[in-house]
Amino acid sequence: SSIKNVAILGSTGSIGTQTLDVIKGNSNLFRAFLLTAHSNADLLISQAMEFVPQYAIICDTTKYLQVKEALAHLPIQVLAGHKAIIDTVTHPDIAVVLTAMVGFAGLEPTIAAIKAGKDIALANKETLVVAGEIVTALAKQHGVTILPVDSEHSAIFQCLAGEENNPIEKLIITASGGPFRGRNVAFLANVTPRDALKHPNWIMGAKITIDSASLMNKGLEVIEAKWLFDVDADQIEVIVHPQSIIHSMVQFRDGSIKAQMGLPDMKLPIQYALTYPNRIQNDFKRFNFAAYPNLTFEKPDLDTFRNLNLAYVALKQGGNMPCIINAANEIAVAGFLNNSIGFLAMSNLIEECMQHINFIEQPSLNDYLNTDKETRIFAQNFIQKLPSKAIH
Ligand code: NDP
Ligand code: MG
Repeated sequence: SSIKNVAILGSTGSIGTQTLDVIKGNSNLFRAFLLTAHSNADLLISQAMEFVPQYAIICDTTKYLQVKEALAHLPIQVLAGHKAIIDTVTHPDIAVVLTAMVGFAGLEPTIAAIKAGKDIALANKETLVVAGEIVTALAKQHGVTILPVDSEHSAIFQCLAGEENNPIEKLIITASGGPFRGRNVAFLANVTPRDALKHPNWIMGAKITIDSASLMNKGLEVIEAKWLFDVDADQIEVIVHPQSIIHSMVQFRDGSIKAQMGLPDMKLPIQYALTYPNRIQNDFKRFNFAAYPNLTFEKPDLDTFRNLNLAYVALKQGGNMPCIINAANEIAVAGFLNNSIGFLAMSNLIEECMQHINFIEQPSLNDYLNTDKETRIFAQNFIQKLPSKAIH
């Protein structure tokens, strides 16, 4: 049949649930073939009951029986554990794997899917940050398309349609600036996870919301853009655009700039990744220029929000450095969310890891796995040694 089977890794998250919304609205085009959750068994069960996928996988093995029993009356294979995901993403009936889990955990399943020739709709930017060189080389080797889901990269991808023979002069990635735009260091020293979780324009998972507040999300996106669009670090510019209407831009060698615009709604880039190169009708809310008379732009404040600079430094150094900053950042964000470190200490922790973890210029996949482990251990120790609450 012409129905595309979609594997959704991280179906219970923000991107995952919006992907299921898109599939639900287009059941003539797509089927949710495989759903995975980390530990949210209840939501995975209710999604599986509604969409009746071939597979439902829960990473947390202690929840296996709960999921298995709840779905016993349905023709669904229930599996558990990270390895089960790696094994099933290669299923011959899967057309595209949408990677919407958070963090380094996306790397191995994505590689397995690419090796099996599956197209990747990539939301899990951490995979490209950690091992962009290996992942993009494998995609090329296996004839796999990596379709960006991240709104900025989807915007660039859309601007590049029909421009295959025109070199990119510059990518201009927009940033909302997050909830602390315009704030200074003294203010940031006292912000709480609650403050940081209030994003002005997007509702997203906790990790990426903290990354947006610290501008690390933009740093990760710069690295993601390098690998998706094969440009150098100095061809990627970040501009703060608080309204999040222009999702990003491409400047060509004649100076012409193309922008992709719309209301902030992740369902559009998700849908485009699934229907590419076609566009399909939908009822998403339309943008109205008259309601936005002021679309504004400003330079990012790199002295206050140091993470964006650290990401550029890591990108220019290459090797396993982006893998180091990713792991350090995952530990930093978790530490901030559970009140073990302050907002500003996140950058200190990342910088500390960049200085102390062994640099490898040409890492193998195994080197990345080791770097990730090593960095996490180092970062955890760093947090434990901090004097309690004198941590900012
Ligand atoms: P959420 O935290 O909302 O969801 C994460 C999903 O991944 C959940 O299904 C979660 O399961 C699962 N998960 C978490 N940890 C693991 C793990 N270790 N192994 C396997 N599965 C895991 O995140 P988002 O949807 O916000 O983000 C997902 C990815 O998409 C991130 O890489 C993010 O950067 C990227 N992205 C998100 C955007 C957004 O608007 N949300 C925009 C652009 C990119 P459970 O529910 O059981 O915990
Ligand atoms: Mg983004």
